[in-house]
Amino acid sequence: MTKPVTDLIHHPYQPPAGFSAPQPGVFKASTVIFPDTTALRARDWRHKNGYTYGLHGTPTTFQLEERIATLEGGLHCILVPSGLASIANVGMALLKAGDEMLLPDNVYGPSRALAEGEFKGWGITHQLYDPLKPADLEARIGPHTKLVWLEAPGSVTMEFPDLPELVRICRRKGVTCALDNTWGAGLAFDAFDLAPGSGEALAVDISAHALTKYPSGGGDVLMGSIVTRDEKLHQRLKLTHMRVGWGIGGNDAEAVLRSLPSLPLRYRAHDESARTLARWCAAREEIVQVLHPALEGAPGHAHWRALCGDAGLAAGLFSVVFHERHAPAQVDAFCDALKLFRLGYSWGGPVSLVVPYDIPAMRSAALATWPHKGVLVRFSVGLEAVEDLQADIEQALRALHRPG
Ligand SMILES: *Cc1c(COP(=O)(O)O)cnc(C)c1O
Repeated sequence: MTKPVTDLIHHPYQPPAGFSAPQPGVFKASTVIFPDTTALRARDWRHKNGYTYGLHGTPTTFQLEERIATLEGGLHCILVPSGLASIANVGMALLKAGDEMLLPDNVYGPSRALAEGEFKGWGITHQLYDPLKPADLEARIGPHTKLVWLEAPGSVTMEFPDLPELVRICRRKGVTCALDNTWGAGLAFDAFDLAPGSGEALAVDISAHALTKYPSGGGDVLMGSIVTRDEKLHQRLKLTHMRVGWGIGGNDAEAVLRSLPSLPLRYRAHDESARTLARWCAAREEIVQVLHPALEGAPGHAHWRALCGDAGLAAGLFSVVFHERHAPAQVDAFCDALKLFRLGYSWGGPVSLVVPYDIPAMRSAALATWPHKGVLVRFSVGLEAVEDLQADIEQALRALHRPG
């Protein structure tokens, strides 16, 4: 007879197999228990046909990996604890001292900081390229270029590149290309079929995605994914993933699994409201430009239309550039006067968010692609009633006209 304290841990009851419900079960583990030493020795962490250790996967994380791979049109997926970790994992797996990577000048800021920090310290160099000039990317690819990052559209400034053409250049030059697919989320376009219906097989090698944004949809989970269609490439990424120990928690995986079925509906709702507000902002005299890839006249609009379609999707983000007569302090006052739009980074959740940015400080002087003098404000449109959001922007614009 064992004591009750032991029975609490080694309890004989096993629930019957075959439980079925709309949501998959949540399995949480650091330790995975093997039935015997033969099984322990036979297990292989590289494949999903068994379990070795919590870091390398549980039924819950494997399910989420399979669903994210499906969402993005890939075959393999690795989950990591943030979108930024997915970017780091790709670079760490593919680059060594002496190699170079290329980043678009409008790249997600922390991705650039990582290139300038850790990667540089490890002897891995980088160059920035002009994402709207494919010839600029082509000219910068040299013998040491081992990775090209792509983003469509660019973070914050929203220029939409000719993504298929950038990928063709990487193919021609034999360089691996990775897309930060957070904006498209697997819905706006297919990163693994960039020329659908044309007979041309055109795909990125790797899609990195901040699941933190739309797939989570709650503003309460940090997670990233790395999707590929190439088994060898996947194993390389997975090896790094295993060695650095980037596991994700079962509860976080469950939160994303629970949000995934409503992803297409939410994405459409964010998109619709964002376009309504972007068009409304475009008519305001305080604003000199609205940066939204689905709006006529926005940088890269034709590329967005070609890739996503005339009736294509476009997420829930847009930025506005204020007239230069509005000093940064006045634009800050506008942001502070907003009541429903809250000040905060990230996007994809129910709450609308706003952030002012100093773009010239974020860009390389050499490329000099930023034509505006006024302050840029990025809106992430949530799921509130669009009329309320519009009224909120309208009342806050009055703060612009108050003496500073
Ligand atoms: C948010 C974001 C990331 C990073 O995601 P985290 O989970 O916050 O680390 C990467 N790329 C883009 C474009 C993002 O918007």
